Amino acid sequence: MTTITLVQGDITRQSADAIVNAANSSLLGGGGVDGAIHRRGGPAILAACRDLRASHYGKGLPTGQAVATTAGELDAQWVIHTVGPVYQASGGDPALLASCYRESLRVADELGARTVAFPAISTGVYRWPMDDAARVAVETVRNTPTAVDEVRFVLFDDRAYEAFARQLG
Ligand code: ADP
Repeated sequence: MTTITLVQGDITRQSADAIVNAANSSLLGGGGVDGAIHRRGGPAILAACRDLRASHYGKGLPTGQAVATTAGELDAQWVIHTVGPVYQASGGDPALLASCYRESLRVADELGARTVAFPAISTGVYRWPMDDAARVAVETVRNTPTAVDEVRFVLFDDRAYEAFARQLG
């Protein structure tokens, strides 16, 4: 059984086996949660991302996929980078957003991670409506078989927290 928990706060302050990053396809960092993870996690994460680009993702990490690196100085073993869909470009089709959660959990299982912290993927500059993003996130985690014991959604503000709380009921 996977327990889903909600926390309001900064994901870079969390202690977990794996922290999920809402990355962009370049894997070279960006704004929002991505920028915060690289700032607090230090240069080891970017170095690992550069290596992954060179070895596997010269054209970028495709939307909906996930890949792990060291967590650097974060209180975690791994950062799992996943690329959320841009709402407009995806036409609101939830398949790729669901894939981010599913693929991140698959990578977490490969690593043996038991606690995984997720941000609200695609709800920042990628503009996915919060209520729909929360529905997709919670439904996908509930429907994905995984050995992860705890999935913790770490929501940055009240609005995000309340949207996820409504989905959990
Ligand atoms: P995306 O490009 O996938 O939309 P963003 O980083 O712009 O990614 O936003 C995703 C969500 O992460 C937004 O709801 C934003 O408020 C939230 N967020 C931003 N910084 C943090 C943080 N330090 N911890 C947790 N969530 C964060």
